[in-house]
Amino acid sequence: SGRWARAMAILREFEENCGTPIGKLGQVADAMTVEMHAGLASEGGSKLKMLISYVDNLPSGEENGLFYALDLGGTNFRVIRVLLGGRDGGVVKQEFEEVSIPPHLMTGSSDALFDFIATALANFVATEGEGLHPSPGKQRELGFTFSFPVRQTSISSGNLIKWTKGFSIDDTVGEDVVGELTKAMERVGLDMRVSALVNDTIGTLAGGRYYNPDVIAAVILGTGTNAAYVERAQAIPKWHGLLPKSGEMVINMEWGNFRSSHLPLTEYDQDLDVESLNPGEQIFEKIISGMYLGEIVRRVLLKMAEEAAFFGDTVPPKLKIPFILRTPHMSAMHHDESSDLRVVGSKLKDILEISHTSLKMRKAIVELCDIVATRGARLSAAGIVGIIKKLGRDAVKDGEKQKSVIAMDGGLYEHYSKFSTCMESTLKELLGEEVSDNIVIKLSNDGSGIGAALLAASHSQYL
Ligand code: ADP
Ligand code: MG
Repeated sequence: SGRWARAMAILREFEENCGTPIGKLGQVADAMTVEMHAGLASEGGSKLKMLISYVDNLPSGEENGLFYALDLGGTNFRVIRVLLGGRDGGVVKQEFEEVSIPPHLMTGSSDALFDFIATALANFVATEGEGLHPSPGKQRELGFTFSFPVRQTSISSGNLIKWTKGFSIDDTVGEDVVGELTKAMERVGLDMRVSALVNDTIGTLAGGRYYNPDVIAAVILGTGTNAAYVERAQAIPKWHGLLPKSGEMVINMEWGNFRSSHLPLTEYDQDLDVESLNPGEQIFEKIISGMYLGEIVRRVLLKMAEEAAFFGDTVPPKLKIPFILRTPHMSAMHHDESSDLRVVGSKLKDILEISHTSLKMRKAIVELCDIVATRGARLSAAGIVGIIKKLGRDAVKDGEKQKSVIAMDGGLYEHYSKFSTCMESTLKELLGEEVSDNIVIKLSNDGSGIGAALLAASHSQYL
């Protein structure tokens, strides 16, 4: 019928505009490399902030002793205690506790929030068991994972640029968050020193490196997306400080903000961006990360409903609600293996209140999920290739078998297997068999918490 043909025309046009042929992906990877250079050359030189983390010393495996970590980045925060056994000893013991932040503290005063955190930490310290005390005369040390935008001023200090994710406390903005935490610890009588301040990407990189010396970068593919990697200090023109002894510096790329004329952007992406909380920002994130993939699918379905009566004479009202179709729903539909696509049918019914869908319609919806996930996965692979090229690891030199391992974390990569499989096969396609044999993506589940404790150890005042 005419309706079906019109709906398929919308789908085909979308598919065409989402195209990621290998040549285009190569251009995206090259653009990523170019922007990395620009962001390292000068402050504000690129959409990629390429933030200096002050982490110039990643865990080596020699770390020894008792360390704490604090992971704050959402409504829950975690306190972690790790006993490290030095070379060959590994992580001897790891304990943690999760505490939820009372909502009123998320919009109250800085002192109230940090007092709450310091109190929870002090209570956790009080549960130190047999053999889990610091050596006599030594202060306890802490790694602080703080996943909000921070302008770092040293490995253990940094000023809050702005709160996100529901936090809004005016008197913290512009302040050194380590100073705020330290003052609160003094107020509650807890003697502890913050040795490292990091975000989740850096924490994942550190946690990954501890277990594998070939880890050179970390990528987060979750609600949002970001990447961090180890750069030669001499390749950072905007760094005017002393060259670190290691000769290396970890860079927090903030790659979610990457954009390039080579990115395949559609009218749906443009509308999503304009209507978002941060228009013009985080364009890469808006086409590859878990917060947005389901929403893109919804927007295309809405257009098919409005302009081709895909779901019948009336547009299903629920389909008009932004973000109603979450990426886990999309993933469940995409992975539906049943002959009558009954998972697709039940998701449409449960979430969008659309019943009586034909098999033909369900197949079209699975195809739509595939188009959106494939574009995201292939562009993520191109981003990783950009990093590998920047590091000069995109060619095998003199038959050398140097492995490059990328520590990966995030629910999108972990749970959306068609996404992760596509990402990995695209990596092979882009790099060729020989090079890609030496590139390994390693799921580093929740590495960021222990990563912060390890960074506290490798930046300990007692070294
Ligand atoms: P965060 O990124 O918020 O720290 P996670 O790393 O746990 O948290 O990632 C959560 C995100 O992962 C969700 O917002 C969702 O987009 C995505 N996700 C979770 N489960 C699935 C799933 N089954 N299929 C696809 N995506 C999923
Ligand atoms: Mg996370």
